[in-house]
Amino acid sequence: MAFQPETMLCPPGRVKVSDQSFTAVAPVFVTVMFSVSPVSQALRSTDAHRIARRRAADRRIGHNCAVRRFDSAGGDLVVGVTVRATITSHERWGVMAEVVGHETMGASVDAGVIDSPSGSSRALPEEYPPVGAQVDAVVQEISRYHPPAWIRLTTRATDLRELRRPCGFCGRPTTLSPGGDGVTVDVRSSTGPGCASFDAHRSCLADRLDPDLGGDRARINAVGRD
Ligand SMILES: [Zn+2]
Repeated sequence: MAFQPETMLCPPGRVKVSDQSFTAVAPVFVTVMFSVSPVSQALRSTDAHRIARRRAADRRIGHNCAVRRFDSAGGDLVVGVTVRATITSHERWGVMAEVVGHETMGASVDAGVIDSPSGSSRALPEEYPPVGAQVDAVVQEISRYHPPAWIRLTTRATDLRELRRPCGFCGRPTTLSPGGDGVTVDVRSSTGPGCASFDAHRSCLADRLDPDLGGDRARINAVGRD
């Protein structure tokens, strides 16, 4: 398995390859699962200022890298990691947020993954964390299929304890939290930018490989655990 060539064009240390994700080089057995996107609503909302800042940051990074693909953003974040996030606005569908240390990337929390003290299946606007509050959140998905790259978070207490998502192969839940049995598979192509991702049990992914690829099977089971 090779890492993305464009990261090699960046200054050393600029792009950190995350230790829990697995990057596939060939677009094989791809299942893509995306939830309903709040991105379009998000971009209509009033954060032109933040978008301008992100573009300025993109230009700075672009100056240093011969090639920059939007799907390299947030390369050091992985589904299942806990982050601190600042709530920046309330929206009908949830909240906009900034992940501390990744302020140039868009991020949001859907109301369906904010705990509702009243027992509603989606948190009510008055139950959202206040604007300006900094909260613990877990990365639920990093959407890099279309620009801009976007971080979807969950603040549910159950997800903070253990994030479980359906396996793209067997459909049963797999644990993406540290120490869990799941990994995120990122599928990218030299043809152009964009990244399709899905979650899977390590064992389900490894079992799909040709038995002759014993080294790759072993690395899928070991990656991040070494
Ligand atoms: Zn599975």
